[in-house]
Amino acid sequence: AQNERDSQYIVSDWAKNRYKKLLQESEEGESIGWAYLKERGLNQATIETFELGYSLDKWDDVLAEAQKAGFDVKYLEKTGLVIKREEDGRRYDRFRGRVMFPIHNISGRVVGFGARTLRRDEKAGAKYLNSPESEIYHKSDVLYGLYQAKQAIRQEELCYLVEGYLDVISLHQGGIKNVVASSGTSLTEGQIRLIARYTDNVTVLYDGDAAGIRAALRGLDIILENGLNVRVVLFPDGDDPDSYIRKVGDKRFQEFVEANSQDFISFKTKLAAREAANDPVKKAEAIRDVLQSIAKVPDPLKRQVFLQQTAATFHIDEQVLISEYNKLVKQGA
Ligand code: ATP
Ligand code: MN
Ligand code: MN
Ligand code: MN
Repeated sequence: AQNERDSQYIVSDWAKNRYKKLLQESEEGESIGWAYLKERGLNQATIETFELGYSLDKWDDVLAEAQKAGFDVKYLEKTGLVIKREEDGRRYDRFRGRVMFPIHNISGRVVGFGARTLRRDEKAGAKYLNSPESEIYHKSDVLYGLYQAKQAIRQEELCYLVEGYLDVISLHQGGIKNVVASSGTSLTEGQIRLIARYTDNVTVLYDGDAAGIRAALRGLDIILENGLNVRVVLFPDGDDPDSYIRKVGDKRFQEFVEANSQDFISFKTKLAAREAANDPVKKAEAIRDVLQSIAKVPDPLKRQVFLQQTAATFHIDEQVLISEYNKLVKQGA
């Protein structure tokens, strides 16, 4: 019901303010949280823009403070801020000793949190924890940073898509404000429709590791299907957008992205052509895989151009490729 959801929004907003206050004003927040964010190169303006915070390394800070402020524990549980242990019914804070990244919906209301551990030992647990799904937080319909990015996306007629919270934040601080993250999950149709409200152009800046490349190859057809233009940039192995912009600075980062962005279908084609170079069986498979992606493109003119490019890259006759393509489409239908 509406009241239920309102209560969840209100408690999330309260928690966001609690975490912000702890980062800025508590001893622990300053010496640990702030120190960490400073080490990662963030300034106060950026921290405010993204409303970053800190959760105390304590079992019941939010639990106790929220109750003191008059909140029903029920809403703390529903939003996942507090966890109730099944065995004995004891409650405790989900987020402890972490830097807090509030996740805003498109109108700027906080719907959940990402939380990064600051520990490097084996007891640290997962590097990032997230709020669970709730009545106000549907992960597949939220993009991290979209609230802060939407105006710039419209202005630039382009949306950069990155993997992580800190990629969004670092780029924003470096003057690239049209950037959002899917935050660890693979991209969904709902997220793409959110982007499509603002632009038809997406450039994917995934991490320069095997996982990043795999994610690009696996996850991007869905953007094509929705009629958006997709380009990709690969970073040097071991770098992600955040580490790379910190390494080379804003200007060179911008230049790198412009010089290295390539159309997604071409990227996929080249990668496949390289991997299948001397193996005819693999090559045929790779070509079919690229054709599958091309089939997702709704615009017939664009499809035609991609087919021509693919034939050229693989050094095969265009008519042969087109008849193969038609066969494949018929099978799929
Ligand atoms: P950092 O720079 O702080 O180390 P990152 O964003 O570069 O973080 P990656 O390992 O590249 O971290 O992961 C990309 C994104 O995937 C993260 O920002 C986070 O949203 C999600 N993620 C990473 N590790 C986990 C995890 N253990 N559990 C849940 N989500 C995770
Ligand atoms: Mn990674
Ligand atoms: Mn990363
Ligand atoms: Mn990183």
